[in-house]
Amino acid sequence: MLLVAAPPTTRTSSPSTTTTAMMMSARRRTMSMGSSAFVRATKSRGTRGSAGRRRAPSTVRVVSEGTGRFIVGGNWKCNGTRASVKELVETLNKNVPNIEKNCDVFCCPTFLHLPYVKENLDSRFNVCAQNSWVEADLVDPEHHYDSTTGAFTGEISAEMLEDLEVPFVLLGHSERRTLLGETDEIVGKKVAHARYHGLSVVVCIGESLEERENGTTFDVIFKQLKAVAKEIDDREHSSWGSSVVIAYEPIWAIGTGKVATPEQVQEVHSKIRNWLAENVSEDVAKATRIQYGGSVNASNCADLAKLSDIDGFLVGGASLNGDDFAAICNASSVHYKAVGR
Ligand code: PEP
Repeated sequence: MLLVAAPPTTRTSSPSTTTTAMMMSARRRTMSMGSSAFVRATKSRGTRGSAGRRRAPSTVRVVSEGTGRFIVGGNWKCNGTRASVKELVETLNKNVPNIEKNCDVFCCPTFLHLPYVKENLDSRFNVCAQNSWVEADLVDPEHHYDSTTGAFTGEISAEMLEDLEVPFVLLGHSERRTLLGETDEIVGKKVAHARYHGLSVVVCIGESLEERENGTTFDVIFKQLKAVAKEIDDREHSSWGSSVVIAYEPIWAIGTGKVATPEQVQEVHSKIRNWLAENVSEDVAKATRIQYGGSVNASNCADLAKLSDIDGFLVGGASLNGDDFAAICNASSVHYKAVGR
């Protein structure tokens, strides 16, 4: 649930009309991408606060959970051969009629498999890159760190993803943060740069087991959020809301089979939403989709989906099974029923 200041907000619009209204509120460029259009929104500063600058609510009360469409993503990580990717694409395509229409879905193949998947996967699924490059040392607030093509051997730029009409990019996954040393600051720059190039972003945040046990979970995730908000808050061509999805992924739950309890997930998600309300804006807090990730599978997704502040899942291991992934997508209906929409 979301704690925000008065005046009261009545939620009357459907998820899609809410999203449409948000998108209409900003000047933008739209790019046609088969079934999915993505936007490069320009300034929409009217409703934003500055990261770190707290609003002072006159009356704090419970308003609502998020209003965005349920969104499920499959992170294929560094998995797949040409044969196994072909098989997975075929299984997913076969499952399209079984997947509810009330949720957004994306799949994240490796860069190598991305063009094949984009060509062959049904347009019911969006494709999502697993990363995009930004120059770590660049201080370039005017140009959104926009010098990411050139002499950067082995990297893939947001410009290239834009050129390929890839609509989403996953940024700040804990495996990249912990194994490759990506800092909060780099992740923030990557988000700003990817948004500048019209990509929707799924940004991963989450604490380690040690951080949970020593009671610093919220220090960690608010710092991660702040690094993102700092970069996109005052940038032209960047926006929150429908275009920035937050994936809360406690590191101790990723690939371990140890799922966070519904109470733990609800507590973190509602605090993320409050943080957005206080540090970005109430509109953004309501529109931002917050996914949970960490050992989600076809058997445990329904219980989690009942939570009011879950707006979807980011799925690793179980997304490599097309039938299971389709079942997880359909947790959207459990969610809408539980929250009464
Ligand atoms: C992930 O890597 O984003 C993830 C959630 O993995 P898994 O579902 O395998 O825990």
